[in-house]
Amino acid sequence: MTKRIRVGILGATGTVGQRFVQLLEGHPQFVITALAASDRSVGKTFGEACTWRLPGEIPQGLRGVPVRPPEPPLDCDMIFSSVPADMGRTMEGCFAEAGYPVVSNTSSYRMDASVPLLIPEVNPEHLALLDRAPRKGKGFIVTNPNCSAIGIALALAPLERRFGIDAAVVTTLQAISGAGYPGVSAMDITDNVIPFIASEEEKIERETRKILGTVRDGAIEPAPLAVSAQVHRVNVQDGHIAAVRVKLRRKATLVELREAFATFSGVPQAMKLHTAPARPVLVRDEPDRPQPLLDRDAGGGMSITVGRLLPDAVLDYRFVVLSHNTIRGAAGAAILNAELLLAKGYLKK
Ligand code: NAP
Repeated sequence: MTKRIRVGILGATGTVGQRFVQLLEGHPQFVITALAASDRSVGKTFGEACTWRLPGEIPQGLRGVPVRPPEPPLDCDMIFSSVPADMGRTMEGCFAEAGYPVVSNTSSYRMDASVPLLIPEVNPEHLALLDRAPRKGKGFIVTNPNCSAIGIALALAPLERRFGIDAAVVTTLQAISGAGYPGVSAMDITDNVIPFIASEEEKIERETRKILGTVRDGAIEPAPLAVSAQVHRVNVQDGHIAAVRVKLRRKATLVELREAFATFSGVPQAMKLHTAPARPVLVRDEPDRPQPLLDRDAGGGMSITVGRLLPDAVLDYRFVVLSHNTIRGAAGAAILNAELLLAKGYLKK
């Protein structure tokens, strides 16, 4: 127990916070020692404050832990943050200023020039931003992408690497858990599709270019591909779908594309990080996959599934991507980021 990094979770009672709690239970390198949430929860124990909405029970050892306000000091070595984005800016900034490493799941700092927007399989070299002189040895912030952007970027990365991408046109079908709890009203989403999620199209377009970007002179130069996104909220519990069309820079065959997806691997797989799936991108050849119900838990929710890979009559190729929005798209992504930070020497007990 004492050898593990002690973590605090901001927004621990929420949809993503509960995933953090679930995924960190029994983790060999991290142990939860602090839980924070809003005024509604502060002063209660976690068991009293949290209405547990995942299968199974609240981990027994956390039931009696008091919920703290989300401000330093907290009894931990690092912070995982899953508070609403409009609050994340101040809260995460305060913890970083106070010397805590903050691994954030919110959008608050994702596009800051000095903050890595990290997918360990795709852009581990972006951690170089943390080595810039003023931040060295102090607290810092590392973020994971938007829950749709992460699946899209993981699918585009193998193609960008091998063939280059000129343009990607993306249409998402996003699960209701992506809006947090209670999220969209049942009356609004039953028998319905909502073609609007605030700021989501902009996030997918700009985050994808930063994630696939290059480190140059201590800054990230965004990848020079055009990204166009349209998003929809659909009546699915978990699992975001993205239908993607790409225009490649170099000609490639369908077989080469399939191989690029299926063989894609990265630093987390090479280093055997605890939360890394054996294969980050799974390819399915059945005509009716991927489906949220059948494929979202692939690789413990950390693998994305690509299917419907076909030539496209307008751009070059099209395919469908599925990713688990609260695991690969949120808590699992942040935990994998922390595992990479630990492996690279950025976290200390
Ligand atoms: P949620 O279910 O609404 O949970 C929000 C959490 O933040 C709760 O723990 C809540 O505590 C806490 N909170 C609310 N107001 C607060 C305040 N003033 N001070 C401190 N804590 C406060 O939302 P969520 O879906 O988990 O999302 C959390 C963050 O993750 C958001 O920034 C979201 O954009 C991002 N995100 C979500 C997903 C997803 O799939 N859901 C994916 C990627 C990123 P109480 O219980 O005390 O109210």
